[in-house]
Amino acid sequence: MIKGLQEYLASNKCFKLILGANNENYEEITKLVALYSAAGCRFFDLNASEDALLAAQAGLEYSGKSDCYLCISVGTEGDKHLSKYQINNNCILCGACEGACLEGAIRKDNEKMHVDDKKCIGCARCTSVCPVSAFESYQKKSNWENLDKLFPLCECVEFHMDSNNRDEIFEKWEYLTKNFKGMLSINASRVGFSDVELVDILKKMMTYKNPEEIMIQADGLPMSGGADTYNSTLQAVSCADLIINSNVCPYVITSGGTNAKTAELARMLNVPINGVAVGSYARKIVKDYVRDDNFFNNDEKFSSALKIASELVGSV
Ligand code: SF4
Ligand code: SF4
Repeated sequence: MIKGLQEYLASNKCFKLILGANNENYEEITKLVALYSAAGCRFFDLNASEDALLAAQAGLEYSGKSDCYLCISVGTEGDKHLSKYQINNNCILCGACEGACLEGAIRKDNEKMHVDDKKCIGCARCTSVCPVSAFESYQKKSNWENLDKLFPLCECVEFHMDSNNRDEIFEKWEYLTKNFKGMLSINASRVGFSDVELVDILKKMMTYKNPEEIMIQADGLPMSGGADTYNSTLQAVSCADLIINSNVCPYVITSGGTNAKTAELARMLNVPINGVAVGSYARKIVKDYVRDDNFFNNDEKFSSALKIASELVGSV
């Protein structure tokens, strides 16, 4: 299986759908995997749980695709991809947050605003529209205790190294390199690291395992996707440029603010990425179809969503 993923990356056309390290909306995960696998995507990034993996497998069964790869994400303590938000008593019920949330996680019920914690992915969009700072974040922890039980169900494990605790990064990385035999992905963001520091850490991480079995996901501005502009994807391409020029790893893809323009921007700037991982933007452009209860029973709706998803996958 690792060979197939290496070949997909080497094609420079790898499209990875990020379902969200924090996304526990399993019904939607099944629909998105069914849709995007039918559209040609072969790589899916999920929260580290059996439920997420089973939901993704159900999606692949629906589309009938077997040459796809499932990846689970784990992080160090305080990984920003694992934060979620709740609303405190400051809320004045203005309603501004409801429309700002791309995940459909916020709703008004009994004259109170609620965040569905299964749907919240911690993107923090809601915080920027709230006039009274009513959103509070809380942190979920990665499933390190039972992680090894998930290894047989996936082809890739992604490690988010967002930590000021360098010892923790190498401790967790050592565990993964010793215990997981598939492809490892490092989600590398410049947030909190200087360029020199980031490259030094990545170089050291490469000494733990055959670099051919490691890929790097250059993360621009984590969870900032949604808009289809060059500006929103610029940091992702810039981060990939830094990593590729450092020759640390044979496979580099981008994430964090990615959209339909990411691959085009990378080509314009001569940044030879192996592919693009897209999250918020990919989910947003099909959300009205996917959230329809009749999604799987309405061929016309599925075809319309498939056209949109195929264009995005084809942009890489
Ligand atoms: S906008 Fe983002 S952080 Fe806020 S509730 Fe929705 S998913 Fe959660
Ligand atoms: S934006 Fe803030 S004040 Fe307005 S409904 Fe949402 S939580 Fe309440």
